[in-house]
Amino acid sequence: MKLAMIGFGQAGGKIVDKFVGYDAEQGSNIVRAAVAVNTAKADLMGLENIPESQRVLIGQSRVKGHGVGADNELGAEIAEEDMDEVQGAIDSIPVHEVDAFLVIAGLGGGTGSGGAPVISKHLKRIYTEPVYGMGILPGSDEGGIYTLNAARSFQTFVREVDNLLVFDNDAWRKTGESVQGGYDQINDEIVKRFGILFGAGEVEQGGEVAESVVDSSEIINTLAGGGVSTVGYAREEVENTGGGNGGLLSRLTGGEEEDELDTAHTTNRITSLVRKAALGRLTLPCEIEGTERALLVMAGPPKYLNRKGIERGRKWLEEQTGSMEVRGGDYPVRGANFVAGVILLSGVNNVPRIKELQQVAIEAQDNIEDIRDESDENLEELVNDDDDELESLF
Ligand code: GDP
Repeated sequence: MKLAMIGFGQAGGKIVDKFVGYDAEQGSNIVRAAVAVNTAKADLMGLENIPESQRVLIGQSRVKGHGVGADNELGAEIAEEDMDEVQGAIDSIPVHEVDAFLVIAGLGGGTGSGGAPVISKHLKRIYTEPVYGMGILPGSDEGGIYTLNAARSFQTFVREVDNLLVFDNDAWRKTGESVQGGYDQINDEIVKRFGILFGAGEVEQGGEVAESVVDSSEIINTLAGGGVSTVGYAREEVENTGGGNGGLLSRLTGGEEEDELDTAHTTNRITSLVRKAALGRLTLPCEIEGTERALLVMAGPPKYLNRKGIERGRKWLEEQTGSMEVRGGDYPVRGANFVAGVILLSGVNNVPRIKELQQVAIEAQDNIEDIRDESDENLEELVNDDDDELESLF
């Protein structure tokens, strides 16, 4: 699936930058265009793979290239005011060649949190291609203002996109690591999962593996209908000897019996990966029962993929989610030394983490208001002496 990716703010820019690197490395052909937008000049300068002409600094007259300091209302205002500059970069994208837009942002900060919903609304108004969002939730240790920003942005972002893919930093952070090193690893995880998902729709149909290759229309149809999505992933290393059934066991025993054994093993591996992917850590942890639509992608060397395994995995997913709309298919990756299962769960509704985020956000909002209300009084008390014996200069 060919995407025009727009990274808003620091997290968004870094993730798009990583997608561009992944795409070149894997030859997966998913990033047709990449744009980074920010109010902070230094963040744009830190990018490695996005061409400089596609890095857009906005809000210069308001914040002078220094960022909005986690003020997402200001982030939204600036995005609105400087939309022409963003549109200038988008104008150089051959939109007729892309299947969809993907707007990526960390929702806890200012520029991306405020700007991503604004640009998405704008894109939807102008283009007929679907506009998807990828929203990164902050870790719960980041504090009240980040949680409040994320909760408000999440609400707005979901409304403005055709589907919001969510990644929760809180479920992925590791203790004892520097924040930067931690983000680097987390970003790798993000790109790996979504790279396989979107790469699946880019395999040429035809040839020996044509029968059940995932097409980009299947990704689009799974995301259609809107709402919030999460992705599961599991992988197993395999020996990739290149050709057909050329494994050692097969060479030793030969014959049909062996083929059956291989097939059974391949099928079991696939069904077990499907379970692990769905029941393991999701990009946004949630209850999978009640999911509206799902897509199962099995990636790996063609000889390790089979229709029976995917069919079983798909059925199992239907039972677990209760959905009647579960699609599935292959993503043949010839040189791979792994088999991986990626599951897109679209339209998830039972997400305790979002409810918790909203609760903490409301508390933070109330606290901020209380503190603001008391602030004038407190300052007055501090600055003036108790019996008003001192006089100001003027
Ligand atoms: P902005 O530049 O004002 O949009 O804000 P940032 O993107 O710097 O930060 C917003 C939120 O994104 C933070 O609160 C973090 O939760 C998250 N974040 C920042 N950098 C990264 C990153 O590289 N990867 C991930 N996964 N999250 C990040």
